[in-house]
Amino acid sequence: MSARAIQPRSPGDSPKLPIMPANEPLPLLKIDDETPRGALAADPPLVPTEDFLKELESESQKLESSTPQQILEYAVERFAPNFTMATAFGPEGMTIIHMLSTIAPETPIFNLDTGYQFQETLDLRERVKEKYGIEVEYKLPDTTVEQYEAMHGGPLYKTNPNQCCFDRKLRVLHEAAKGKHAWASAIRRDQSPDRAKAPIVGWDRKFQLVKVSPLANWTKKEVWSLINDEDIPYNPLHDQGYSSVGCFPCTRAVQPGEDERAGRWSGFQKTECGLHSQ
Ligand code: SF4
Repeated sequence: MSARAIQPRSPGDSPKLPIMPANEPLPLLKIDDETPRGALAADPPLVPTEDFLKELESESQKLESSTPQQILEYAVERFAPNFTMATAFGPEGMTIIHMLSTIAPETPIFNLDTGYQFQETLDLRERVKEKYGIEVEYKLPDTTVEQYEAMHGGPLYKTNPNQCCFDRKLRVLHEAAKGKHAWASAIRRDQSPDRAKAPIVGWDRKFQLVKVSPLANWTKKEVWSLINDEDIPYNPLHDQGYSSVGCFPCTRAVQPGEDERAGRWSGFQKTECGLHSQ
């Protein structure tokens, strides 16, 4: 495996940090900014009135038996050009990109480039461009990895991954979502108890915009069948035991029988970066 921009450290490189015990819950973090976010910052803003929330609930129920393609068609028709997608280039994200390439290839798609992604992940951006002509835009935090680690006396992912994900993913997504009405997420309900409650279409309170989950009802098997049938590009790390790929310091391969997301933030009480939890 390879990783970008970060040189291996020797044990003496970083100041000693108080390591948070792995079995202690990590602090929860919230955007405390009172300024409008997401769809509330759009022009015109999309406000989650009672009527609008009812509309979403009713559409979500109607879409329960629809195909992911039909769900994407609904989202594009209802929300484009204020419809966007965030991707970490996982198998589900690649599946949605493949579908959007015929339904609405002009949909703006972005990647939260924490600076800690695997090179194999970054290479997928080029493969998407070659195969579909779609340019996934990188959205970057306001500090480089070097600046961020210098500010915190070392890599924060070792001691407080919640803060690191908050600074390098969540804040960036908040910025990227500003002015959009809706975003597509690649979650499947069978991935985790947190994700099991996801509606097909619903109001995302955290990011203040409509969240559309076209693959909510799909299984891992269905995703991989389509990838194989349609020759959709995917991360080669999946062939090396990495069922879910995030940043390289916080991802390990999983053993047979382990949970699909067991390789993420292994050793911490953390299973989500915070993008898909309320
Ligand atoms: S996954 Fe790890 S390295 Fe990436 S932002 Fe979260 S804590 Fe930081």
